[in-house]
Amino acid sequence: MKRIVILGSTGSIGTQTLDIVRHHPDKFKVIGLTANSNVEKLREQIEEFRPEAVCITDENKADLFKTDVVVYKGEDGLKKIATLESDLLMNSLVGTSGLIPTLEAIKKGITIGLANKETLVLAGEIVMRQAEKHNVAIIPIDSEHSALFQSLKSGKKTEIKNIYLTMGKGKISEMSEEQLKNVTMKDIFSRPAWNMGNKITIDSATCINKAFEIIEAKWLFDVAPEQIKVIVHPEYICHSLIEFNDGSIITELGTPDMKRYTQHALFYPERVKATACSFTDLYGKTLTFEKPAFDKFPCLRMSYSVLEMGGIMPAVLHGADHVAVQAYTEGKIGFMDIPKVIAATIQKTKNIINPDINQIIEAEKSAQKTAEGILENDIRSYNSSGKFDALRRK
Ligand code: NDP
Ligand code: MG
Repeated sequence: MKRIVILGSTGSIGTQTLDIVRHHPDKFKVIGLTANSNVEKLREQIEEFRPEAVCITDENKADLFKTDVVVYKGEDGLKKIATLESDLLMNSLVGTSGLIPTLEAIKKGITIGLANKETLVLAGEIVMRQAEKHNVAIIPIDSEHSALFQSLKSGKKTEIKNIYLTMGKGKISEMSEEQLKNVTMKDIFSRPAWNMGNKITIDSATCINKAFEIIEAKWLFDVAPEQIKVIVHPEYICHSLIEFNDGSIITELGTPDMKRYTQHALFYPERVKATACSFTDLYGKTLTFEKPAFDKFPCLRMSYSVLEMGGIMPAVLHGADHVAVQAYTEGKIGFMDIPKVIAATIQKTKNIINPDINQIIEAEKSAQKTAEGILENDIRSYNSSGKFDALRRK
């Protein structure tokens, strides 16, 4: 039996992970679960899975929570849960909260199933160095990276020529530049293929999610930014590809279903018969691939720019996006203002090369303040400044 801890168990990936576990009661013992504030769902999960301990990061909610299992609270509590004696830590937290618990678990030699891409966006170099030092496997759960991880069984990292990260094509990508200015939350949440958490759904619409995934891929697969290409694949069947030096292109195919990837990480290196996720009927299916509209979705290019800048800049990208998305959801700015706030924040920030983990965390917070300042001033001045062009890939 694998002893597992699930960080962010009440979220979209967390609940899908528990659904796989539910189908395999003889294979997993859940020993730790966490929520930020959704204590009702956490209570149901405690009753069903009987973990040894839980963590509630919202300290007020934690203080009021009565249960017969150990309750940790706050960020310190997350570290405690992440370092319980376990065989696998499934990190399905959203945002920066996932970074430190992952690093702590790596130092204890615990295998990581990683959905929390922010961990690698913020501190990919440090995290991968620590994983190597402690001989810890990081098994990606993000669909594209899981597909690449599985495709990499056909060759070595040093034999990769290019990586193609697939990207879907929804209603928003069909809009004209004029229509894009008025994208609504309803447009964003009418995505047909995947049902995801709020933050990643908005990030997918602006394409900054793909920018984060480029950074994630760089660290996971140890490739240069120019080896990572983005390819639009409207059918959502192919989930990223590796082109090897000998010209072979290897991929993972299947109907869009995040459970396939959580299942893969849970059972890795075994493969089991799927009982909780769907199979794919390939007859009659068509696969098409297109070039992405870099000019319509400026966030895409930002990943290459921040990787080129290095240092704290990927963390700044994340902090600025966090604030811009919040402002958009509150109706303070338009959809196409999101990349402008991010670009302006990056331009206002002085880089730190070879930062330590505290400097990275500090830079992310400080980028949030800078972005808030930009929002308080006249955002329209950034709209027309053309500053964004300076961030484009050379
Ligand atoms: P959700 O928003 O659905 O869930 C997030 C989880 O983290 C919840 O358990 C939530 O608790 C908890 N949480 C939220 N804020 C904090 C905080 N400040 N401190 C500690 N815990 C917190 O996110 P998703 O499941 O969609 O995404 C999780 C990660 O997986 C993200 O990094 C995302 O990019 C990645 N991912 C998600 C995919 C998807 O299909 N959903 C696909 C690929 C990657 P509570 O419920 O109490 O708020
Ligand atoms: Mg993804």
